[in-house]
Amino acid sequence: MTQTEDRIPLSTEDTPLVPLEKIVSLCKRRGFVYPNSEIYGGVSGIYDFGPLGVELRNNIRRYWWWSMVQTNDNVVGIEGNIITHPRVWEASGHVDSFVDRLVDCKNCKRRFRVDHLPAENLKQNKCPVCGGELTEPRTFNLMMETYIGVVEGERMKTYLRGEACQNIYLDYDNVLKSSRMQIPFGICQIGKAFRNEVTPGNFLFRQREFEQWDLQFFVHPSEMQKWFDYWKARRFEWYKGIINHTDRLHFREHGPDELAHYAKQAFDIEYRSILGWQEWEGIHWRQDWDLSRHSQFSGQDLSYTDPETKERYIPWIVETSGGVDRTFLFLLLDAYEEEPPSDKDKEGRTVLRLHPWFAPVKVAVLPLQKNKEELVTTAKDIHNHLKRLMVSQYDDVANIGRRYRRQDEIGTPFCVTVDFKTLEDQTVTVRERDGMTQIRLHINELPAYLLERVRWDYN
Ligand code: ATP
Repeated sequence: MTQTEDRIPLSTEDTPLVPLEKIVSLCKRRGFVYPNSEIYGGVSGIYDFGPLGVELRNNIRRYWWWSMVQTNDNVVGIEGNIITHPRVWEASGHVDSFVDRLVDCKNCKRRFRVDHLPAENLKQNKCPVCGGELTEPRTFNLMMETYIGVVEGERMKTYLRGEACQNIYLDYDNVLKSSRMQIPFGICQIGKAFRNEVTPGNFLFRQREFEQWDLQFFVHPSEMQKWFDYWKARRFEWYKGIINHTDRLHFREHGPDELAHYAKQAFDIEYRSILGWQEWEGIHWRQDWDLSRHSQFSGQDLSYTDPETKERYIPWIVETSGGVDRTFLFLLLDAYEEEPPSDKDKEGRTVLRLHPWFAPVKVAVLPLQKNKEELVTTAKDIHNHLKRLMVSQYDDVANIGRRYRRQDEIGTPFCVTVDFKTLEDQTVTVRERDGMTQIRLHINELPAYLLERVRWDYN
C-alpha cells in the first residue's frame, strides 16, 4: 500500500519557511520538547520530550515500524542494546575514523565542521560569518566512552553506540537461524545513538543523543542494484506521504569524494526548511563491508549458503538510515502555519497541519458551557469512551473559540462539541482542524467516524 494514496488530503498550498524559534517556542510552551537538565543550565544538544512530544514520538516510531516491519513479509525487527563489546567499534571503523575535523574563528570564536564550510571559505581560511581567520583543523572522535565493571583495573572500556545499525550486523546470523528468513530479507531497528557532536545545534537536528531507524536489507550481489533502487524509491514515497509540502523533498546524490570506498552510490533524502536543504535519511550501498569486517574481527563465518544452489557468499547490504528526531523536527516545520484572521476565524490562529496519524491528541471533547451540568456530564461520558480508543482530551476552560485554537496549535485533527441540541437528539458537532468545517453526527457514530480518520490502517 502506498501512503500517498491513503492519506487524508491536506493543504498543499505553499507557505513561507517557518523560523526555527517559532517551533522551539511552541515545543516548550505546549509540552513537546524541553531542554534537558534545564534547572542546571542545560546541556547543549540534549533534549527531553514532554507529554505531547512523547505521543508524537511514539506515533512516528509506530508508523515507521508498521510500514517497514509489519507490512513487509521479508523484513523482521530487532532491538539491540546500546552497549556492545568494544571490538564492534574497532571492526566498524568508528574507533579509528569516526571523526569530525573542526576549525574555530579566531575573531568571532564560532566553531565549524570542516566538511560543512563553503569551499571558498575553506580555500581562503576565512570565517563564513565574520570573515575572520580560522584556526588549523583539529580532529575529534565522536564516540562516547563508558566502562563495564566496577573494580579499577578490571573495568573494560567500551562505547555508547555511535550508530544503531551495528546491532543488526551482530544479530544477523541469529536472526537468520531463528526466523527462517532467506535472502533477500531485511532487519529493522529503532534505537538510541550517541555522538559527541562538535557542533550540536539547530534544536533537534543535530543532537548528542538521538534515535535512529535503520533497515539493513541483505541481498545476493547480483541483485544489489535492483534492491537499492527499490528501497530508494520506497523511502522517498514514505517521506512524501507524511508531509504537506512535497516540493520540499529531493534526493541529493553523493559525489565521488563523499562515497565510502565500497559504495557504488549513495543518496540523501533531503528536506528544505529554514535550515536549507538538509539530510533526513541516507540510502547507502554497503556492499559486503559490514559482514566481512565482523567476520574478520570476530573470527565467525558470517557467509550465507543459498538453500537451493548451495552457493556460499557474504550477502551485500542496502541500508536506509534515518531517525525519529529529524522526522519530529521536519514534521513540525512542515506542519506549522500562522493563519491571518478570516471569515472562519476572526482572530487568526496558529495551526499544526500534522497528518492525523501523527497528531499527539486525536480528538478534544468540549462542552459548550462548563456551568451546565448536563453538558459536562455528556461530554465527559463521550471523552471516557473515546479515550480507550485514541488519545482524547477533555477541555472546558475558556470560550469555545479559544479552546478550538488551543487544539489547532497542537495539531488535534478533530474537536467534538457538546451543546444544547445534543441533549435533545444525541448529536454533536465535529469540527475538523484544517478546513474548520463542521458536521453533526450521532454520538453512536463518533467512534467509527474518528477511528477511520486517525488510524493509518484505514482503507
Ligand atoms: P550528518 O552528515 O548530518 O552528520 P550523517 O551522515 O553522519 O549525518 P548518518 O550517520 O548517516 O548521518 O545517520 C543516519 C541518520 O541519523 C541521519 O540521516 C539522521 O536522520 C540521523 N542523525 C544523524 N546524526 C544525528 C544527530 N546528531 N542528531 C539527530 N539525528 C541524527
